[in-house]
Amino acid sequence: MLGIGKTGWIEKERPVCGPLDAIVRPIAVSPCTSDIHTVWEGALGERSNMILGHESVGIVDEVGSLVKDFKKGDRVVTPAITPDWGSLEAQGGYAMHSGGMLSGWKFSNFKDGVFAEYCHVNEADANMAHLPPEIKPETALMLCDMMPTGLHGTELADIQFGDSVCVIGIGPVGLMSVAGAVLRGASRVFAVGSRPVCVDAAKKYGATDIINYKHGDIVAQIAELTGGKGVDRVIIAGGGAETVGQAVKMVKPGGRIGNVNYFGESGDAGIPIPDWGNGMAHKLIAGGLMPGGRLRTEKLISLITAGRIDPSLLVTHVFRGFDKIPEALELMRQKPADLIKPAVLME
Ligand code: NAD
Ligand code: ZN
Repeated sequence: MLGIGKTGWIEKERPVCGPLDAIVRPIAVSPCTSDIHTVWEGALGERSNMILGHESVGIVDEVGSLVKDFKKGDRVVTPAITPDWGSLEAQGGYAMHSGGMLSGWKFSNFKDGVFAEYCHVNEADANMAHLPPEIKPETALMLCDMMPTGLHGTELADIQFGDSVCVIGIGPVGLMSVAGAVLRGASRVFAVGSRPVCVDAAKKYGATDIINYKHGDIVAQIAELTGGKGVDRVIIAGGGAETVGQAVKMVKPGGRIGNVNYFGESGDAGIPIPDWGNGMAHKLIAGGLMPGGRLRTEKLISLITAGRIDPSLLVTHVFRGFDKIPEALELMRQKPADLIKPAVLME
């Protein structure tokens, strides 16, 4: 990112490895909707000459003198969020906000990202995960952000056995919320989307009902399909700020809303007071940034190796060669009908 609205190539020094850190050589990277928000919507404010990207798998090139569990040559996944695990926020259970709200997000935000020949990982023992050989790099990329975020939506919504769940937005993140809802024991899963490639994937991940937001009010569609009752849980993973009000309207009293969507617009989320039981409906709204961390990432890896979730369905486009990153980024920006997520294999 050369500046808001401008991308290009830039030469930088190889990053320096501190005693707790690692330098990793990415072997595969994936552009993210957040990279598009960062460059073309100026979501983080001005950033100049910053290396983009926060989704990568790679080979460890160097480790600091205090790193215990990784060595040069190890194959690793690095999550998008790389907190400071000694911070008070981490001790309070919210490592993703270490150093300030949302500040566990460092790559392509507070420091250079992963669309590079080498990238720097802080607190390597806590922020990298060992990647087993049977998982292909392009599949493993979905462990950096799409799987952890989509599954976090299901945690925020606290899905229980038999819950009916509506997932608003079925891009790659929402699709992982659909898969996660099923794993957590949801009964009916309503997936709100429109693009056929995403609708197909949602059905494969276990959605029982598809709702097209382009075919009328989604609250009315949910009401019709549930005999006016609404759903137990809602996960928001796409759409604008109006989705918060829609979620409040469609969730039953005592229900929970988990939001992982990024709301770019300033302003407010417009909670409709009567639908919120005039403040007394026990409708909980929880929104969160994905948790990072080695323990969690290795647990998500075990979901793949145990055959519980197959995120490879998300990777619709695979490019080969470092020089293909701009093409993949542009594809993410244009979002053609057949795209869910692109991957770039560096070699
Ligand atoms: P995406 O843009 O690929 O998917 C969102 C989908 O929602 C798109 O397919 C879009 O067509 C659809 N959509 C648009 N308007 C809609 C509406 N009114 N109702 C229903 N669907 C609608 O993005 P993604 O990669 O799946 O990410 C989803 C969101 O999560 C983005 O805002 C992203 O920035 C955010 N995100 C958050 C975190 C986190 O840690 N919380 C991490 C990664 C991404
Ligand atoms: Zn991302």
